[in-house]
Amino acid sequence: MNAIEALNKPRWDDHDWGPLPPLTRDAEAEVCVIGLGGTGLSCISEALNLGATSVIGIDAVDVAAGAAGRNGGLLLAGPVDFHHDAVERHGVERTLAIHALTERELATIQQETPGIVRVTGSLRIAETPEELADCGRQFTAMRADGLAVEHYDGPEGRGLLFPHDAVFHPLKRARALATALRSRGAQLYGQTIARSIEPGRVRTESGTISARHVIVCVDGKLEWLFPELLAEVRTARLQMLATAPQLPIKYDRPVSTRYGFDYWQQLEDGSVLFGGGRDKFEADEWTTDDAPDAKVQEYLEKRLRERLGISTDITHRWAASVAFTDSGLPIARELGGGVFVVGAYSGTGNLVGAVCGRGAAQLALTGENTLLAPFQD
Ligand SMILES: Cc1cc2nc3c(=O)[nH]c(=O)nc-3n(C[C@H](O)[C@H](O)[C@H](O)COP(=O)(O)OP(=O)(O)OC[C@H]3O[C@@H](n4cnc5c(N)ncnc54)[C@H](O)[C@@H]3O)c2cc1C
Repeated sequence: MNAIEALNKPRWDDHDWGPLPPLTRDAEAEVCVIGLGGTGLSCISEALNLGATSVIGIDAVDVAAGAAGRNGGLLLAGPVDFHHDAVERHGVERTLAIHALTERELATIQQETPGIVRVTGSLRIAETPEELADCGRQFTAMRADGLAVEHYDGPEGRGLLFPHDAVFHPLKRARALATALRSRGAQLYGQTIARSIEPGRVRTESGTISARHVIVCVDGKLEWLFPELLAEVRTARLQMLATAPQLPIKYDRPVSTRYGFDYWQQLEDGSVLFGGGRDKFEADEWTTDDAPDAKVQEYLEKRLRERLGISTDITHRWAASVAFTDSGLPIARELGGGVFVVGAYSGTGNLVGAVCGRGAAQLALTGENTLLAPFQD
C-alpha cells in the first residue's frame, strides 16, 4: 500500500459508532436486505413501514462502509443527467416522475433523521462558453417543465442555481437511520458477507438466512454479485479530498462544474471537500479498486489550489466504488423467485438509491410498483 492509498479515510467519519455485531447462526426473516448503505437502510425503513414482521439486514463490513458513507454529500433532485438531456433520453414524463420522487425522498430523509440535511440549493457553474450555452438549454427546459431554476452570476462563476437542492452528512445519516431501525426491531449485522444469493436463501460464512424476500442493495461492484449483469453494469472509482477548516465560509452551497465531473462543498466548520476528475483519467478509473490513486488526487489538489485558490492543508483523501449503466438509469428489478436487486446509480445515488431501496421493499411486500416503475424500461 502506498502513502496515498494508506490515507483512504472519508472526512465524514467522526468515529462515533460501535460496529454492528456479525451474524453467528442460521436465521429466518420475512425480508433479508443485503447491503447497509443509504439504499439498504431506506429499504429496511420502508419494509418496516409496510408492516414487514421481521427484517434482517447484513453488510460485508458495516453501515455505510461503501460509497454511501464516502460520498460528496450532495442531494440533487432528478436523474443523473441534466434535465434537458434526461428529457431527450427518457422522455419528459419519466424525467419529471423521477424528479418528483427524489424531491419527496429529500423530505423523507429530513423527517427520518432530523438535523442532518441543510437545504442550501446547489450551483451548476459553467467552465467554458459552450457549457454556459448548455446551462441556457437546461434553464429553458426546466422552466418549461415547471421546475425551480434560476440564472446565477456570483463569486463561483456563471451558471444555474437549483434552489431546492441540499447537502447532508451521509455517514451520520446512515448511522442515525441504522440506530432507529434497530430500535424498531430490524436485526442488523456487520462483517457478514453474502456468499450466495438464491430465492429464499442467503448463505454467509457464519449462517444461512431464510427469507421470503431477498433484496440486494449494492451499488459499486454489483456485477461481482450478479455476473449476469456484466453487460449492463460497469464499476468505476470516484475520489475526493478534504481540507482543514478554512474560515470565513466562502461557499454557501455545493457547486458542480465541468458538466458535473468536478464538484465541491464547504462544510459548516469551513473544511472544503473537492471531488471529481474521473473523466481526466477515465481508462484507469473503470476499476473495482477503491483506494485513492496519485494521479486523480494530484488533479483534485491542483484544482483546489488553482480554481478555488485554497492553500489550506489537505487532511483526508478517499475513494469508493460506484456502478454505471449506459442509460443512466439504475438497475431496479426482480431477478426472479423473490430476489430483488437495486444499484448502479451512475454516480449520484444518495436520493435515487433511497427511492429504489424503498421501491424494492414496496414491490416485494405489496406487489405495487409506483416507486421503481419510472426507472424501468
Ligand atoms: C467519492 C464519491 C462521491 C459521490 N458523491 C455523491 C454525491 O454528492 N451525491 C450523490 O447523490 N451521490 C454521490 N455518490 C454516489 C453515492 O455515494 C452512491 O451512489 C450511493 O451512496 C450508493 O449507496 P448504496 O447504499 O446503494 O450502495 P453502497 O454504498 O455501495 O453500499 C452497499 C453496501 O453493500 C455491502 N456489500 C457489498 N457486497 C456485499 C455482500 N456480498 N454481502 C454483504 N454486504 C455487501 C457493502 O459493504 C456496502 O456497505 C458519490 C460516490 C463517491 C464514491
